[in-house]
Amino acid sequence: MRKFVVGNWKMHGDRSSLVELDQMAAAAAANPSVDVAVAVPFTLIDRAASRVSALPIGAQDVHERDKGAHTGCISAAMLVEVGARFAIVGHSERRGDQGETSQDAWAKAAAAHRHGLDVVLCCGETQAERDAGRAERVVQAQIEKSLPEDGDGSWLTLAYEPRWAIGTGRTPTPDEIAGIHAIARAKMRMLIGERADAIRILYGGSVTGENAHSILSIPDVDGALVGGASLNAARFVPIIEAAA
Ligand code: PGA
Repeated sequence: MRKFVVGNWKMHGDRSSLVELDQMAAAAAANPSVDVAVAVPFTLIDRAASRVSALPIGAQDVHERDKGAHTGCISAAMLVEVGARFAIVGHSERRGDQGETSQDAWAKAAAAHRHGLDVVLCCGETQAERDAGRAERVVQAQIEKSLPEDGDGSWLTLAYEPRWAIGTGRTPTPDEIAGIHAIARAKMRMLIGERADAIRILYGGSVTGENAHSILSIPDVDGALVGGASLNAARFVPIIEAAA
């Protein structure tokens, strides 16, 4: 499967940061065997998308409804209008900060897909869940509740991001990553059949230029969702190159 490297700027960056996208787009063009995309804050999508038309720009969230009285929210149609090509849904920071559930992620993925956006659907256990030996069951349950029935690899990507590995510099062992990815693949296959085989499963959580090559060599790891190291080209480009 083609590797997919997705940057997630979270609540970082301003207009002056957009210059970083130029080199990221150049690296994507220089490594055509890899798919690359970057999710920026809502306020930067419009400018980012017109600046680097060859590099898909996405959002970090989307509302499940098409329009209505939902103060502060952004619909999929609004994202499409400003040039977004995909949306991340179910990120653990939104589960933690905004209390989002796997059902919310399902509804958001469906709304994004209705409007033609690709979706990166996140799952992953907390430290307490891993310590209690529940990581596998937690991820299976999240996938069961959030995987769209019509999901397929043409628009859907799954991202396994153990919450305790995000922004901490700690990563699971290769065996732990391979184990969860295999379980995630099997669960998706159970739910949607052979279509699951075309859905890429990314690993996310403290991916850097230094560890990218070994993480991307783990069986069933089809790419990376990258937070901190996606904020500047000097740190993100080596990850794109490691995926090639
Ligand atoms: P990190 O974040 O790479 O900074 O750990 C990953 C993510 O949350 O997408």
